[in-house]
Amino acid sequence: MTDSGNTPPLRPGRLPIPGLPSGIEEGSVFRSLFIAYPDSLLLVDQSGHIMLANPSAAALMGYTVDELVGLNVDVLVPDSIRPRHASYREAYGRAPRPRPMGTHMELVAKRKDGSEVMVEIALSPLQDHGLPFVVAAIRDIGAYPRVKQALQRARYSEHLAQLGRLAVDTRDLQVVLKHVPEIITTALQVEVAVVWLLDNNRLEFRVASGVGLIAGEEVGMRLANRPDTPPGFVLSQGRPVVVPDYRTEQRFAVPQAYLDAGLTSALAVPLSDRGRVIGMLSVRSKEAKRFGDEELRFLESLSSLLATSLQRVQTEEALNHAQRLESVGQLTGGIAHDFNNLLTVIQGNLQVLGELPALAQDAYAQQLVNAATRASRRGAELTGKLLAFSRRQVLQPMAVDTHALLHSLADMLRRTLDQRIGIEIDTAPGCPPVLADPGQLESALLNIAINARDAMPEGGILRFRTEMCDALPAVLHSPHSDLQNPAHGRFVAISVADNGTGMDEEVKERAFEPFFTTKEAGRGTGLGLSTVYGFVKQSRGGIVIDSKPGQGTTVRLYLPLLEAADPPGVEDEERPDETIAPGLRVMLVEDDAEVRNVVHTFLTTLGCEITTAATGEQALMAMDAGGVAFDLLLSDIALGPGMRGTRLGAEARQRFPQMAVLLMSGFSSELLDADREVPQDWELLRKPYTRSELARAICRVMAGRA
Ligand code: ADP
Ligand code: MG
Repeated sequence: MTDSGNTPPLRPGRLPIPGLPSGIEEGSVFRSLFIAYPDSLLLVDQSGHIMLANPSAAALMGYTVDELVGLNVDVLVPDSIRPRHASYREAYGRAPRPRPMGTHMELVAKRKDGSEVMVEIALSPLQDHGLPFVVAAIRDIGAYPRVKQALQRARYSEHLAQLGRLAVDTRDLQVVLKHVPEIITTALQVEVAVVWLLDNNRLEFRVASGVGLIAGEEVGMRLANRPDTPPGFVLSQGRPVVVPDYRTEQRFAVPQAYLDAGLTSALAVPLSDRGRVIGMLSVRSKEAKRFGDEELRFLESLSSLLATSLQRVQTEEALNHAQRLESVGQLTGGIAHDFNNLLTVIQGNLQVLGELPALAQDAYAQQLVNAATRASRRGAELTGKLLAFSRRQVLQPMAVDTHALLHSLADMLRRTLDQRIGIEIDTAPGCPPVLADPGQLESALLNIAINARDAMPEGGILRFRTEMCDALPAVLHSPHSDLQNPAHGRFVAISVADNGTGMDEEVKERAFEPFFTTKEAGRGTGLGLSTVYGFVKQSRGGIVIDSKPGQGTTVRLYLPLLEAADPPGVEDEERPDETIAPGLRVMLVEDDAEVRNVVHTFLTTLGCEITTAATGEQALMAMDAGGVAFDLLLSDIALGPGMRGTRLGAEARQRFPQMAVLLMSGFSSELLDADREVPQDWELLRKPYTRSELARAICRVMAGRA
């Protein structure tokens, strides 16, 4: 069937079909083939217009054959690709070459209704009658399992990325929580998605957010954490749980409401924060056996992303909280410092006023002075509380009679704690005094007692006990303990036992961590035991917790016994002023002129010879001048911008070893480290103080010198 001569051009359409039975027209065979072909076939001209389309193409693209013919192929590509598509097509027209199937040319085609379909396209240039045509064979590959899976993965990662972006962009946990179930239901195309969070006490789950929640299940709803509930079961497993069919589920009780809502299968994964389960994500579907490996992987990735952002938000909150406390602490510390200076001036002047000969006999004047003195003392108590909050106190260890302290504490607790809590005391008779700051010790014990009360909501027994022991228990020689502390010597152990809920290992382990609390917001700060821990360590003691869930808790504080050689004695209270040797030569260093005047007056009435200085440098110069051999250096610690009182004291000790040193402080925020700065055997006088307190302190340091 050649047209002419010996060189027939190769025109595929005109090749004879070997073995075609005679009588069957070649053209009709090709037409039938074109119509019956399972792939979509389009014949497209140079300008991209469709010349021929087979029914498969019409079915795939959602048009009729007639509609397709005459359309430009560019219409069949998604809008986003269309501009590029025309130039691809033109480039192909300039250098056409066959491009078969299987070359992973996976593309997206756009149907008439706008939906998209994943296709593979083969192109064959066709030279017929000298006209350039292209045959496009298009295959719907969206139905291939491999492709389906890849598509699904792509969609899942897109959704994961969406949550990732959200988690990075927003600092609001509620927003993240709200979006998670929406993302899950969209990605997995399921009816229900729920985020459950476990309460701090781990006794209850709470619905944090959800989509498609069934009747009776709403955000904020609480559910007891029991292994026979769906979330409780997942928690007890600690790993993902697939429920192929609720109707045959045996491992936990399926709420009737799930079945009533027509839900059939489910998938749940735990939400964990550094190995600790804090909640879970669950999805439910009306289809049976809806969830496979892909869904599981998706949900797991989502869960770890969510846990990370939960953790981040919480860390930031804790940090903010800590910073807030820190700045409030600094503020109150600063205020208290200034107040103490004012109070020193007020109290001192009142005292001087009260002793003026003109007023000494005036009963009415005395009454007024006394009232003002009482008020200023209350002011001093108030600043003390401010400092207790800011934890900026300088510890003033002294002899503490634990027996007396526990009895007075118990009296107070009996009046203030729940009536259903019985308080018992069992103190070792004749237990020698310990060396500790009594105010701090009392507040430490109070903290422990309040924890015990919280652990006994229905009442119980709170038992205080003291006993002597020779050394700190072995457990304290762990990396947690301060190895610099002398662990030997004799101690008094004060134990506080309750028969409340007790703690599990994890809580016990973290109980001393600042901000660790299992109590709900507003009830616990997590700072109780951490401050107790700090106090006890600073006091060269130790603390241990003995506790088991359901078996109560015993917290035991170890405090060092007051060494026999240690000077501070309780009887100091009664020592009269006049034990100060007359003519004591004092170098008084104080930067606040008003305070300096008051102290000067005190010292004068105590019979001292006084030289004053406003700075450490001035004081050193005066002492070096050698005119006077000073007996005592009495210095404030914070001396404005210059040398601090602690430095001055150290210098003085070195240059004039016979000189006694007494430091005063309004324990400002600068004194945060005073307990470290000031050697243990240095006397420290807290502002504000009365003349007799000053006198007693001077007696103590002078006695120490002798
Ligand atoms: P807070 O009391 O503010 O929670 P704490 O530092 O005082 O902070 O205690 C930390 C945690 O230790 C508590 O939240 C609680 O879980 C646990 N805990 C402390 N004391 C007890 C106790 N007596 N019984 C049970 N748990 C306790
Ligand atoms: Mg507490």
